[in-house]
Amino acid sequence: MNKPQILVVEDDTAVSNLISATLEMQGYQFHAVRTGAAAILDAASFRPDVIILDLGLPDMDGVNIIKKLRTWSNTPVIVVSARSEDRDKVEALDAGADDYLTKPFSVEELLARLRVALRRVRFDTEKVSDAASVYRNGELTIDYAAGCVYVGEKEIHLTPIEYRLLCLLAKNTGKVLTHNYILREIWGSALPSDTPSLRVFMATLRKKIEPVPSHPQYIQTHIGVGYRMLRVQ
Ligand code: CA
Repeated sequence: MNKPQILVVEDDTAVSNLISATLEMQGYQFHAVRTGAAAILDAASFRPDVIILDLGLPDMDGVNIIKKLRTWSNTPVIVVSARSEDRDKVEALDAGADDYLTKPFSVEELLARLRVALRRVRFDTEKVSDAASVYRNGELTIDYAAGCVYVGEKEIHLTPIEYRLLCLLAKNTGKVLTHNYILREIWGSALPSDTPSLRVFMATLRKKIEPVPSHPQYIQTHIGVGYRMLRVQ
């Protein structure tokens, strides 16, 4: 990949400057804008690889910006929000954001999230040329056509729900999926009371695929938000 292009949407000058300085230091190309209207224009003209989006903008609701973007663009969106905007964060993820940063965040955190998002871009691009319906991530292999899962050479036996859960996470590698989204996709319901059972299924799935279930390398937990499949090198 050439120099990645990042679109920064943030109306707080101090935060915007911090993000810009970090990107510059790392050799990323970027545009910084302060409004939702400018964000949508630039997303179309500048064609960024990743968008860093503050949820509290003066002219538009960040969630609406994501909804608009998602009608024509699959560009990863990392939302930036204050801790008091926790509900907005989940709403933003459900609207199609990939990830989130809570203010105040460190430079290392920002760069780590960017790397995950850029990896998703790279694998999305490769997927187009990969006609085989096989998912590979580290030691983990899913043969979608056969419905089989392997860790290394060993076939893993999953229950139908565990298998669907794994496929859903795999197909969204790099993206944080909210509890509500997962419940809706797997069970067709999104009752908050179902979240504990999701945790149980996730625990049994991890026991089967993670080398050290207490320190998962594939499926990351986002407390109070959801889960994400990470790309393992
Ligand atoms: Ca703001």
